[in-house]
Amino acid sequence: MNSLTDITAARTGAPNPGDKRMSHAHISLQNIHKSYGEALAVDRLDLDIEEGKFIAIMGPSGCGKSTMLRMLAGLEDVTSGDIMREGQRINDLAIWERDMPMVWQSLALFPFLTVRENVEFGLRMKGVGGAERRSRALEWLGKLGLEGYANRGIDQLSGGQRQRVALARCLVTEPSVLLLDEPLSALDAHLSVQMQGELKRLQRELGITFVYVTHSHSEAFSMADTVVIMNQGRIEQAGSPEDIYLRPATPFVARFLGGSSIFDCKTRRRKNGELTLESTDGSFSYTGPELVEQDEGDEVSLIVRADQISIAPGAGWAENEVSARVVGEEFVGALVNLRLETAAGTPITVQLQQRDMQALDIEVGASVTASWHPEDGHIIKT
Ligand code: ADP
Ligand code: MG
Repeated sequence: MNSLTDITAARTGAPNPGDKRMSHAHISLQNIHKSYGEALAVDRLDLDIEEGKFIAIMGPSGCGKSTMLRMLAGLEDVTSGDIMREGQRINDLAIWERDMPMVWQSLALFPFLTVRENVEFGLRMKGVGGAERRSRALEWLGKLGLEGYANRGIDQLSGGQRQRVALARCLVTEPSVLLLDEPLSALDAHLSVQMQGELKRLQRELGITFVYVTHSHSEAFSMADTVVIMNQGRIEQAGSPEDIYLRPATPFVARFLGGSSIFDCKTRRRKNGELTLESTDGSFSYTGPELVEQDEGDEVSLIVRADQISIAPGAGWAENEVSARVVGEEFVGALVNLRLETAAGTPITVQLQQRDMQALDIEVGASVTASWHPEDGHIIKT
């Protein structure tokens, strides 16, 4: 059994009766539209967000991620549709009544206040008294590793420390939902990785719902319980990181995540039930998990992940093989991503260990054969 069927079997198994939170939509966006004049920023968007979960929202620039978050926060009106929380419509609640603060990249800390005063600010807005404000602010500065910085000015902090102050300022009000819009994108790579670990730990320990917009695949896939991929104001797919990685629902998702080869095909059934996929790159055999769902003559995309493709110099012997030319290579640690192109112009991505690449002795410009097993790959109806 390959790992894909293992995971499929595990995921379609009986639900865990001990999981009380299952299918409990804490926040629900229902048929949300947002237009700016003629331009549609968010289009018929439906999304359920479960309590205590970490949701990552991804998608190309301009697809409506920030607009969606700002509507949740109450910073932006909804053109039509309902934002529900615990079954109550909250469209008309003001920002401070929503208990959903937002952290974003440009931080918006007050430069004329000290670190502690910045953190106290949210509590001041809620009318919490001075002594309690101070002790809660100090407590949160401690939790975020900033105990020695309470009396500093904001301009005396590093980028990472400022980001922590911004988080403390939101968390001190003990919200049940935190909205984060690319909060780590201004940090350098090392600090960003460190903050990812801390954010995930905080989210788990506090049981807060995180709605986290990011353009970084590694942030989304390492931290989130649910990943949402948006495109042009709509949701293309929402699912667990494994689901999205193993079974992208649309060619857009596969393309957006990268690292896969996509073949446009037409299906033809063989006597034994197997599928033959006809493409401009030749015909392929398919026996993978979506076999039964396909009818004869369907237009489909065959998605093959870079780690499922092997290459050999010259002509091969495998059932599914395509001749291609090496057009580029990219070294990522011990791995190499090799970019190929077929005679029909289809791009193919192959992932190899560096030592295998050396053994194959392949260079850019070389002709190779790419192949994969008929049980590998994933089919999407188009
Ligand atoms: P993302 O965060 O995914 O990059 P945004 O939500 O910021 O995208 O923007 C979605 C779309 O709405 C874009 O086309 C953007 O130009 C447009 N938009 C966002 N804010 C405004 C605004 N205040 N006025 C007009 N258009 C806007
Ligand atoms: Mg944005």
